[in-house]
Amino acid sequence: MKCSQSIRLVEDPRCRTCGYPIWGDAESADFCQNCEHLTPVYEQCVSLVLFKGAVRGLVHALKYEQGLWALRDIRVLMENASWPDGFSLEGQVVAVPLHPRKLRERGYNQSELIARELCSVVPGFHFEQPLERVLDTESQTKFDKRDRRRNLKNAFSLRSNRAIDPAKRYLIIDDVFTTGSTINACASALRKAGARRIDALTVGHG
Ligand SMILES: [Zn+2]
Repeated sequence: MKCSQSIRLVEDPRCRTCGYPIWGDAESADFCQNCEHLTPVYEQCVSLVLFKGAVRGLVHALKYEQGLWALRDIRVLMENASWPDGFSLEGQVVAVPLHPRKLRERGYNQSELIARELCSVVPGFHFEQPLERVLDTESQTKFDKRDRRRNLKNAFSLRSNRAIDPAKRYLIIDDVFTTGSTINACASALRKAGARRIDALTVGHG
């Protein structure tokens, strides 16, 4: 990959809630300062890389410019990922769903493409989408953290004819970790449907 010198893979120690690396003397070895007081519905979120430079360009291309070529580079990031100590590489992979209107507009769900790519890199993962986006929430970028959570609270639900297996481990995929509210809302929907083991993965940490 070009520009690989500007890409920083995240390694341990890292925050269990947002995936951000923990540098220096943190109060807790498991959580960064931003997340110390959060109580996420999932157990751990992994971010493959820090969201800047070339990585920002990749995700932007995939999300806003129909840049499907970016998947090839994202795959390289997955192949070189440094997985957290004790992080299971097995389970059902779930993508953050798009609302049907948005899906029509974009033509694909970038998180689903990332999820499918991950499953082809890591044989223990398989993709199956149990969730749907039932609320067409407005673009989240203009809301603050609390508004985002409120806006997203009931945005996701279990698709009809889908069942959650409490014995299974679920891994939610999103492109970028920003406030964590989207992943948390998906995790809530999974948990409400009976999931007991939920983790998450994003390409970048924003
Ligand atoms: Zn954190």
